[in-house]
Amino acid sequence: MRLAQRVRAISPSPTLAMDARAKELAKQGVDVVNFSVGEPDFDTPIHIREAAIAAIREGFTRYTPAGGIPELKQAVCARLARDQGLEYGPEEIVVSVGAKHSLYNAVMAVCDPGDEVLIPAPYWVTYPEQVKLAEAVPVIVPVGEDQGFRVTAAALAERVTPRTRALILNSPNNPSGAVYGREELEALGELVLAHDLWLISDEVYEKLVYDGRRHVSPATLDPALRARTVLVNAVSKTHAMTGWRIGYAACPRELARAMTELQGHVTSNPTSIAQRAALAALTGPDEPVEAMREEFQRRRDYMASRLASIPGFACGVPEGAFYVFANISRFLGRTRAGRELKDSADVAEFLLEKARVVTVPGAGFGSDLHLRFSYATARDRIEAGLNRVEEALARS
Ligand code: PLP
Repeated sequence: MRLAQRVRAISPSPTLAMDARAKELAKQGVDVVNFSVGEPDFDTPIHIREAAIAAIREGFTRYTPAGGIPELKQAVCARLARDQGLEYGPEEIVVSVGAKHSLYNAVMAVCDPGDEVLIPAPYWVTYPEQVKLAEAVPVIVPVGEDQGFRVTAAALAERVTPRTRALILNSPNNPSGAVYGREELEALGELVLAHDLWLISDEVYEKLVYDGRRHVSPATLDPALRARTVLVNAVSKTHAMTGWRIGYAACPRELARAMTELQGHVTSNPTSIAQRAALAALTGPDEPVEAMREEFQRRRDYMASRLASIPGFACGVPEGAFYVFANISRFLGRTRAGRELKDSADVAEFLLEKARVVTVPGAGFGSDLHLRFSYATARDRIEAGLNRVEEALARS
């Protein structure tokens, strides 16, 4: 079968592949601890589920405006104003089928074929693939662990060319957990403005920051930068709503209109019922979100200190999101259980086989020296999984 080059160029998602492996083993009755998940293990708070049920009961089941219902756009504006002090009007908001879809709309609406998009590594696996789908070129800019996984303007400046069109920034970061501070963002903002780029700012882990940190949204730094920013967020991670598929973008009106038109021809509107649920999430109480954040912080503390104490792993304490990106370079080139561990995939495979623990190889995030461990899983499972890792390493 001859398929289009566009789809042949896509790499499969390593996170979904590992998750599928874990589920397959679990189905065979193998007790695996799954550290590959990218979603909260909590249920969606009950008031949000009730709002969706009420929407179904009242028959709110027809097409909505392509870019989202006015009440939800208004709620997004109110949230941005309240949480970030950002003033956006409904005509600058596009509600989509998850943040992934918002990001796709943004890349498709700003990139022409051959344009270059700067992506600091480690990055979320989907960015380079979406850029390729737009027939643009992902330009990966490696960021050292010694810089706290935070890219500098100087490192980006070296890779800017006349074809550079956008920078995709993700803070708090998946997979590294890095959270950018105000001054770092100001320097990146200057670079964006100096080269007339778009800043696609993925803020889906906005609420998952720890130790009293506060998320800084780049659009708040300067009105000129706001005019070049596509702020992307979602209810998925914050409100434990990954399956509902509601994300949103805030950006200048002209771009919002283009993204809405594009989406109108691809998906029409996001699901009517899920939009009502998202409205309840954004206008409802903050306590459930804060309770989840506190639990993530406790799990992070446990996982990061346990992993750092297991010989061979090296990791700091992540500042946000729900992942530990552990350095595994000390395992590489060594032989374990009769097999040489050459790269992050080999180490992940070793842990799966010998410890029945699922992790995600760093290669898919742009760093073959790391493994990603998610702590979006119950505390006793984290403990059991890390015990197994320790035992498997001691045995082999
Ligand atoms: N951005 C980042 C950094 C993510 O980690 C994810 C999900 O894993 C997404 C976006 C996608 O979010 P959504 O489920 O709202 O599409």
